Amino acid sequence: MRLLLIEDDAMIGEAVREVLRDVAYAADWVQDGETALACLEAQSYDLILLDLGLPDMDGMELLKKVRIRSDIPLIVLTARDAVEERIRGLDLGADDYLIKPFETGELLARIRAVCRRRGGSGSPLLSNGRITLNPATHEAVCGEVSCVLSAREFALLQALLVTPGRILSRSELENKIYGWNEEVESNAVEFLIHSLRRKFGADLIKNIRGVGWMVAGTS
Ligand code: CA
Repeated sequence: MRLLLIEDDAMIGEAVREVLRDVAYAADWVQDGETALACLEAQSYDLILLDLGLPDMDGMELLKKVRIRSDIPLIVLTARDAVEERIRGLDLGADDYLIKPFETGELLARIRAVCRRRGGSGSPLLSNGRITLNPATHEAVCGEVSCVLSAREFALLQALLVTPGRILSRSELENKIYGWNEEVESNAVEFLIHSLRRKFGADLIKNIRGVGWMVAGTS
């Protein structure tokens, strides 16, 4: 999953980005609205975290602009705790609203909840009928085999399981795993797929030569 974090406060921005990267979200962090809009033109994201007090435009204005272009999941992070502000943010199209200061565990749980709702599922688990992944614990269960995946194994398998039956190219998979300034190790995708196949069986992830990789659709 690739996230865009829009937050002008350097301390909060850096801390949140680190938390996101620790749990294997590819997170890009920008500090103003114009840069955020440029990023949204250039790159596809799975979710936006938006601070309302930005130096060049009000976050509510940015939220309106984002909603004109796309229905990307969006959580507002703000110190503005007036109920009128919360209502306005939600009515402008925010999926959720988190008041600063917040616990990082709650932020991560809200990200999972928003993604789940947007995925059309009430279940906290991702599954294609063969393998089941728990985004809260990074535990994967496949038949008799159950184990906790490394952060990047989880990120790769999650990307495939969100769209079972769809082929993802190497660059699409790298996009879900690495944020800016994170060095993409060569063959990282092959390495992770090899490791997942060793754990859960060679036919879990199919390679379509020259195109990419996929997991089977829900059976
Ligand atoms: Ca701010």
